[in-house]
Amino acid sequence: MSGAYGDWEPVIGLEVHAQLRTRTKAFCGCATSFGDPPNTHVCPACLGLPGALPVLNRQAVALAISAALSLGCKVHNTSVFSRKHYFYPDLPKGYQLTQFDRPLATGGGLEVEALEGRRWIRLTRIHMEEDAGKNLHGLGGLSLVDLNRAGTPLIELVSEPDLRTPAEARDYLEKLHAIGMFIGANDGNLEQGSFRCDANVSVRRSGEPLGVRVELKNINSFRFVEDAIDGELRRQIRMLERGETIRRQTRGYNAEKRESYLLRDKEGEDEYRYFPEPDLPVLAVDEAWIAERAAALPELPEAKRARFRLQFGLAEGAARVLTSHPRVAEFFEEASALCGHGVKVANFIQTEVFRGTVTTGLDAVFPVSPSQVAEVVELVESGAISGKQAKQLYAELVGREVSPRMLAQTLGLKMLADEATLDSMATALVAANPKQAEQYRSGKTGILGFFVGQLMKASGGSADPKLASELVERALATKSGV
Ligand code: ADP
Ligand code: MG
Ligand code: ZN
Repeated sequence: MSGAYGDWEPVIGLEVHAQLRTRTKAFCGCATSFGDPPNTHVCPACLGLPGALPVLNRQAVALAISAALSLGCKVHNTSVFSRKHYFYPDLPKGYQLTQFDRPLATGGGLEVEALEGRRWIRLTRIHMEEDAGKNLHGLGGLSLVDLNRAGTPLIELVSEPDLRTPAEARDYLEKLHAIGMFIGANDGNLEQGSFRCDANVSVRRSGEPLGVRVELKNINSFRFVEDAIDGELRRQIRMLERGETIRRQTRGYNAEKRESYLLRDKEGEDEYRYFPEPDLPVLAVDEAWIAERAAALPELPEAKRARFRLQFGLAEGAARVLTSHPRVAEFFEEASALCGHGVKVANFIQTEVFRGTVTTGLDAVFPVSPSQVAEVVELVESGAISGKQAKQLYAELVGREVSPRMLAQTLGLKMLADEATLDSMATALVAANPKQAEQYRSGKTGILGFFVGQLMKASGGSADPKLASELVERALATKSGV
């Protein structure tokens, strides 16, 4: 079978960087923050001033252990921080503290949705490290450095080169993103860069050894990861088919132009001069701590999705969307528990509530409350109002702390199910549309929908749709007997 890339097989491995949700930085007491005035959360340690000693943040380790356990990794009882040296303005120490040959965790993985079903993607390792600062370019022609982010704890999750399509890479990223948020390790804020990845991409003809890879740096959107990898695969295939060779490169991705650009050529290994950090002891994680973290893990998104399907009868797509964010999952579950109509609640949240829902990292602001959603759904299910009226009611409800039942009364929203009234409306409609009535009688029964639609419109959306349909049908039949 030839896929989107002819007889070339894509090979993709991701390196994901997820900031850990700690109050303070990885090796000093400075607050982790976003958006504060530049260089207001810095100290001798994170500025790399001589003599300042690093002290490892225990909470960062706890969150990293949770992440490793939620992905089925083996957490090692001892691991080691090393200095990774490179020169860049956002790295004041001249080296980054990271774990190199002895990472916190190895193994594990997760399943992705692939064309041919579900596939297991192996994780190589999860290690802890610190984030760099940020270079701010162009302020009055100057380049400045903000070191508030320098020293923020991260985990890097490295996958084996097991991914085979851009869509799989996206799915993998989305799943990691959700897990990080559900376990409270990461705030999931892509815009602020708390969760980002480097994508390693190569192609080969099937059966051949791995090709030369290109690394696409710092991608912070699900769509970009898919687009960037797809573009890179096509670029490599074009080159190979022209007989050119792929060079080992690091490239950036320009989302506006939808193309990658060269950052640096990377022939041969980078020389980071790694060595163990002499000012930090070996990181010791005993079995008791691991067991404690394992016991504290919440229900993970994958399990929640399966449960939502089983318990509420949700379709796969709905279950997936409703478990992509912890607050959304809570909202759905609360509303469903209150009214007992899980599928209807799921539909209502997706068609109405989502339009006005704003998520910022782990926070979510909903336009209405779960109990309001439950009550609207209940009004529809009990036949008190029509589906059309539910939309009307919802529009009035947004931002107000009122009971939907009371508001429906105030607005005079009530399903019109009075047979005599609807019958005379149906008869009048049939009389007013002789051409369509004739079409119906000559066998074009699909025209029934036209009449029901007209009746719904004439009733201002309040007619009971089932009764309306019955009565229109009867009116059309009656006329033919005359
Ligand atoms: P480095 O030390 O240069 O970062 P790694 O061996 O740690 O290299 O690999 C980094 C990432 O690149 C991993 O996610 C791995 O799966 C991926 N990778 C390695 N070889 C290839 C390849 N030929 N094609 C695509 N991805 C690859
Ligand atoms: Mg790497
Ligand atoms: Zn500091």
